[in-house]
Amino acid sequence: MATNQFDVSDTVTLVSGSSRGIGLAIARAFAELGAKVVITGRDEDALLAACAAVAQHPNPMGHRTCDVADTGAIQACVETVVAEYGRIDTLINCAGINKRMPAVDYTPDDYDRIMNTNLRGAFFMAQAVGRHMIAQGSGSQINIDSLSTYGSLAQVAPYGMAKSGVSSMTRVLALEWGRHGVRVNGLAPGFILTDLTEKLWSDPNLLAWNRTITPLCRMGTVDDLTGTAIFLASPASGFLTGQTIRVDGGISAGI
Ligand code: NDP
Repeated sequence: MATNQFDVSDTVTLVSGSSRGIGLAIARAFAELGAKVVITGRDEDALLAACAAVAQHPNPMGHRTCDVADTGAIQACVETVVAEYGRIDTLINCAGINKRMPAVDYTPDDYDRIMNTNLRGAFFMAQAVGRHMIAQGSGSQINIDSLSTYGSLAQVAPYGMAKSGVSSMTRVLALEWGRHGVRVNGLAPGFILTDLTEKLWSDPNLLAWNRTITPLCRMGTVDDLTGTAIFLASPASGFLTGQTIRVDGGISAGI
């Protein structure tokens, strides 16, 4: 057993959707622990800015542009990371978008954009990295799920449907890949303040409601998620697969 069961220092970690928000916080946490980290997203300038912000760090992050709605881009991204770093030990499958509105108002285009990023993109990213992990005989994949899977909210129908699919995917891939040494787990955040949710939580009434329904009585931050991601990537979770850990301040423990 490793002396430090939470050691991720000698790993290569790829984080999809990590130019900002939850993905970037997790990427930085891994880099601070010594992992070789590659951040990805659609906007090259945003990725460069994210890398530059930690450029003084002794372990700077690499970056690749990759739109997860484009399977060719996923393939190219994964291949270049493997060519440059030799392996991928951890995938944080994080890219996601949302658009809130009543179910009756979604257009087919809205639906496709959410599904193509949050579900189709997550699947093909998992598959592309999974092929390498199976070949190397080890790896840990962490799918960023959502509270929407476990107790849905109104006005996020395609988002909740996509995240429920991600939850199912976590279990199925864990069943298929366990014998190859590849673990697949989920991390389901509760309400976390990021660009994705900023508009929602600018309403003081909603913010007050959030505090009321959260047993830990506060909004989550991106840093609340990093420890669980490190646990799921590390030897400390070596016998854990097919599970999704809800990091939501206790909301989903209630009715
Ligand atoms: P942000 O909007 O802050 O960040 C989203 C990230 O995903 C950005 O880096 C963005 O970069 C990237 N991204 C979006 N679309 C694509 C795409 N097609 N291909 C590649 N990258 C993409 O959101 P959060 O950090 O809040 O969300 C991260 C994940 O956490 C999502 O999967 C979300 O569903 C999930 N989540 C968030 C919660 C919250 O309360 N914030 C709660 C539960 C789950 P760019 O736009 O430059 O491509």
